Amino acid sequence: MKLIAGNWKMNGLKASVAELDALLAAPAPEGAELLVCPPATLVASFARRASGSHVKVGGQDCHWLESGAHTGDVSAEMLADAGATHIIVGHSERRADHGETDAVVRMKAQGVARAGLVPILCVGETLAERDSGATLEVIARQLEGSVPDVRALVIAYEPVWAIGTGRTPTTSQVAEVHAAIAARMGAGVRILYGGSVKPGNAAELLAVPHVDGALVGGASLKAADFLAIAAGAAA
Ligand code: PEP
Repeated sequence: MKLIAGNWKMNGLKASVAELDALLAAPAPEGAELLVCPPATLVASFARRASGSHVKVGGQDCHWLESGAHTGDVSAEMLADAGATHIIVGHSERRADHGETDAVVRMKAQGVARAGLVPILCVGETLAERDSGATLEVIARQLEGSVPDVRALVIAYEPVWAIGTGRTPTTSQVAEVHAAIAARMGAGVRILYGGSVKPGNAAELLAVPHVDGALVGGASLKAADFLAIAAGAAA
């Protein structure tokens, strides 16, 4: 089963439940599990609505602590209480916009596991790092610094230069990085590819060895596109 996860980022109001409803109304895609990560404001209502269905609901980030004096933050336990099953940690936008280091990402991933949820831990190189031939070294360093010792974990390989840009690595570039991550992580850890996944390229990317699913940003906001991507898992 491939995991097709949608990262809605800072998009979505109550009315966006129409997109969730469209996912719920469609038959469960063959060979794919669906996960929608809406903004924190929608997690509880989406999880209630999707309860018992083929669609899971997740968070996009969390604090590493369970509770306390951290104004504006949300803990993994709160997202679990709201019905989330997974939480994305270490997304490159969090690393860039909020200065999150590998050490912080590791604490967050530990917090997710402490709450009984599955972390989706993002790694990926910048364009400068790719161009200088440092990709595998950067990924290895990020894994070394941010992967916690937890039972259930998903890794998302997201080249920073492919996020929201319409550019994707070649399938051999994806294969090379996924093989390196798989060798480092061992069996049992799913590895998602993320970065400009669209209905038109999903089947090709999902067919690459060690690609166990996709983390989808922009194209996850429309149910029709998200379902078309998930259909690529059956191809
Ligand atoms: C993401 O931000 O996780 C992502 C993959 O974005 P996009 O699909 O829009 O490139």
